[in-house]
Amino acid sequence: MTSSFSNLSLAEPLARAVAEMGYESMTPIQQQAIPVVLTGQDVMGAAQTGTGKTAAFSLPLLQRLLKHENSSTSPARHPVRALVLLPTRELADQVAQQIALYAKHTKLRSTVVFGGMDMKPQTIELKKGVEVLVATPGRLLDHIEAKNAVLNQVEYVVLDEADRMLDIGFLPDLQRILSYLPKQRTTLLFSATFSPEIKRLASSYLQNPITIEVARPNETASTVEQRFYSANDDDKRRAIHQVLKTRGIKQAFIFVNSKLGCARLARSLEREGLKTAALHGDKSQDERLKALEAFKKGEVDLLVCTDVAARGLDIKDVPAVFNFDVPFNAEDYVHRIGRTGRAGASGLAVTLVSGSDARLVADIEKLIKKKIELEAVEYDEDQPRGRINDGRRAWREAGETGDGRDALGASAPRRERDRDYRGGRESRESRDPRDQHRGFRPAAISRDPFFEKPYEASAASDAAPAWEAATKSAPRSSISANIKPKRKVAALFKAAAQPESTAQS
Ligand code: AMP
Repeated sequence: MTSSFSNLSLAEPLARAVAEMGYESMTPIQQQAIPVVLTGQDVMGAAQTGTGKTAAFSLPLLQRLLKHENSSTSPARHPVRALVLLPTRELADQVAQQIALYAKHTKLRSTVVFGGMDMKPQTIELKKGVEVLVATPGRLLDHIEAKNAVLNQVEYVVLDEADRMLDIGFLPDLQRILSYLPKQRTTLLFSATFSPEIKRLASSYLQNPITIEVARPNETASTVEQRFYSANDDDKRRAIHQVLKTRGIKQAFIFVNSKLGCARLARSLEREGLKTAALHGDKSQDERLKALEAFKKGEVDLLVCTDVAARGLDIKDVPAVFNFDVPFNAEDYVHRIGRTGRAGASGLAVTLVSGSDARLVADIEKLIKKKIELEAVEYDEDQPRGRINDGRRAWREAGETGDGRDALGASAPRRERDRDYRGGRESRESRDPRDQHRGFRPAAISRDPFFEKPYEASAASDAAPAWEAATKSAPRSSISANIKPKRKVAALFKAAAQPESTAQS
């Protein structure tokens, strides 16, 4: 299979856009998916953000929509032909930006709608008419209800990051949206995993799909230096200062497990003279985008974030990642540290371990299949070290006596409750009484595509793309450990199995 775009026979406006993007060769998902999508077949793709997936579906989709291209100013001449659904605002925004770039030399129009923003400007765009609509499910339903979006001429629907949409609890919304679409259409489903729920979704809505899988990126890149330092909660900030100073690190991500902890830590670090921004689910979309931009521009040194809020953000190749809190979920550890050490660049991942983290550290050890050595931070002479060693001893005792399971103790449920579950949920969803009946717990999404994104340094980088570092290992096909199927979900799928025309009524 050739990897050159020139052999695809893309229409000139699309080929020009690709050339302007500087893409030289296709990524593995593009090599596999583009020819299939060009034939109009349904696709079930196992690929994560960062693999070049957006171009893999949008280039062939735009190519097939070119027959509808026209320069009429009449909205009626620009009905929605392609619908791309994503779980979060950030992802929707990123994908829409990419599609706009690929389509920029065509007359095809595209726009994006997502929650947390005023509906009016979105309505104006929709009313003008767009061929490609990128949306998060909740906000799209708002626009459908307000009669701003009509979907009866949709030819293509893309369910992107489908596993995360199900994890968040979007299944009923997806079912409703799909019921508004013509039955005769091409459906493309992309998901990091093919869990039983995803397979059920696919069997309900896809027709004879071609399955495409690309290798998962390395679990933990060998270019990441992983250090585990013992530090009591009171000493953790001091440890961060020390590591930043010793290693001459200017920018870092700091991961915490709760929204509350996130805001508090950001405030403390800011007071201590570090330019810091917090990124958590309670931040407005505008605030999040501003924080992100400031970090990208180097105006912010530290971005303190929760796993959920960080998800889907286009920030790559951070010099260092700190785990201020050891993640509750070992897989989150892999995703967090995947932000650093990308594409051959060396990165540092520092995890601050307190005495009660033994079980969590043991889980990480098991997952990364490496013995974790807990170290003490070498503080400058004016920094006392006594309490640090206490934490280290407590961890060793709990871990080495095999009693680690109890080490988390009674504090765990409270910490779980504090955890930032909201993430990309739209305000509409959080008010929605149907939430209580949603079968999935909107939490602990394990394989976070955000962390799979290749690094894009602010300065020009000649590093190889991330997918070149991908291992040959096949994508996991096992059930996502974080998706807890419930009877209600099964019932929803049963409903989905009905013909769509019935579901519409
Ligand atoms: P995605 O997985 O679609 O979010 O893409 C991740 C990043 O890879 C985006 O910044 C794309 O612009 C970039 N990208 C996509 N395809 C290619 C390619 N063939 N060559 C180089 N970069 C690419």
